[in-house]
Amino acid sequence: MPKLAALLPKVHFLSSSPDYASLPGDDGAEVAFAGRSNAGKSSVLNTLVNRKALAKISSAPGKTRHINLFGLDDAGRLRLADLPGYGYAKVSAAEQERWGRELTRYITERRSLKGVVVVMDIRHPLAESDRQMLTLCRTGGRRVHVLLNKADKLTGNRRAKAMAAAEKDLAFLAPGATLSPFSALKRSGRDELLSVLETWLTEDS
Ligand code: GDP
Repeated sequence: MPKLAALLPKVHFLSSSPDYASLPGDDGAEVAFAGRSNAGKSSVLNTLVNRKALAKISSAPGKTRHINLFGLDDAGRLRLADLPGYGYAKVSAAEQERWGRELTRYITERRSLKGVVVVMDIRHPLAESDRQMLTLCRTGGRRVHVLLNKADKLTGNRRAKAMAAAEKDLAFLAPGATLSPFSALKRSGRDELLSVLETWLTEDS
């Protein structure tokens, strides 16, 4: 695979699927982005690929949730998956239940899924819904990288403390998970994220 950084300018929209069954081919390698609504997942994705609006602003409450796939190479064998934001109280119970089933299938069954980046707000990480997401990833045997976004909101010392606290909690909740700070606003932490994605997307099988 060419260096991931060289592929990013080629990123293009592939598909938007309301359920697991309608996702396109499960070959190649895929990395998914998940996170609570408002943690900044869209901003992180846009910062990662240097686009203003690749990932659209979170869909309106009540709307059917979709898995959006973006291809990195021309053939679309290397992909980023943008999962719907979770923890949004106004989504109907029926839609939450439906989506919970689809997400469980995606995380546990998708063969090309190489890892999940879970975006959290560094000021309040590991909410109950984040913990559920981590548990699901563990059930599916998925690698996890936690991205503590909005790092610009904390000064050096408070940021280091927040990182250390999250690291300690993660050791219990998601053994083996890695974490790094990020700021979509300041565009910091991008290289570290790139290197995680590159490792995941280039491994064999
Ligand atoms: P999503 O719902 O997780 O996709 O979140 P968005 O990307 O729409 O971001 C939610 C809000 O947080 C928006 O007002 C963004 O401008 C803001 N935001 C996102 N990332 C950052 C960041 O790194 N720093 C700061 N200060 N604000 C951010």
